[in-house]
Amino acid sequence: FDGANSDFLKGVVAMSGLPPSDRVEVCFAGRSNVGKSSLINALTNRTRLARASNTPGRTQEINFFTLSDSHYLVDLPGYGYANAPLAVVEKWQKLLKQYLLGRANLRRAFVLIDTRHGIKAVDEEIMSLLDSSAVTFQAVLTKADKVKEKDREKVLKQVREKLSKHPAAFPEIVLTSSEKGDGLAELRAIIAGLD
Ligand code: GDP
Repeated sequence: FDGANSDFLKGVVAMSGLPPSDRVEVCFAGRSNVGKSSLINALTNRTRLARASNTPGRTQEINFFTLSDSHYLVDLPGYGYANAPLAVVEKWQKLLKQYLLGRANLRRAFVLIDTRHGIKAVDEEIMSLLDSSAVTFQAVLTKADKVKEKDREKVLKQVREKLSKHPAAFPEIVLTSSEKGDGLAELRAIIAGLD
């Protein structure tokens, strides 16, 4: 896919709103500010496809994009907002759990990790949730351009070590930069290869 057929489909706040599970689906999860919107925009070659406004008011929404005739891309709400009200957090956690555990056509979850920070406690939470779901997940390091090449190995080592404790983790890590374009072709190929 090259973005030509990418479009925002809908925002979903309850399982009843999910589109039919008639395409291969991949989802993107990550802490707020990890660079998720930028990556989705870069992947789809669109400048403002994923709304960068991951404000706490939108935390419960799961956004669906068509990636091609055969693939959906799902933008999960960013997590780890320090100021989000507990009721909001609990509501979206419930929806997230229902989605991850119940979506038949979901082939892979991409968990985005900031290359500067590595895997944090909140990332571990979502990884543990994914362990109990049927879907494998893959770590995608973002903003790689912000870390010098010689310092990346340390982060990769930490990420590899943490991933090894998660049965649902796919061992291959994708290093990306939405800014420079690193890893985008690799990620597109991974998604296109899922069926
Ligand atoms: P989201 O909250 O996860 O959707 O994050 P955004 O995509 O809105 O990005 C958060 C901030 O990180 C913004 O200021 C982006 O410009 C910046 N950013 C995102 N991706 C990259 C990247 O690959 N390289 C650099 N240098 N900055 C990035």
